[in-house]
Amino acid sequence: MNHVVCPMCGSENIFADSGLITGKYKCNECGYVGSLIYEFDDKDYELFKRQLERSKSREKFPK
Ligand SMILES: [Zn+2]
Repeated sequence: MNHVVCPMCGSENIFADSGLITGKYKCNECGYVGSLIYEFDDKDYELFKRQLERSKSREKFPK
């Protein structure tokens, strides 16, 4: 299965903004708007999510 995810927050709650002809996407989680989205299969999606979690926890708990 393919996953279309937001490059900012990794949410799949991202949709093509039909109001625009530029082919931009809008994320309903973080409000990101842009033409860049990520598309992953199941394996790459898991990797991306793990990476995202790691960078998040790094921000939360700085060394
Ligand atoms: Zn987002």
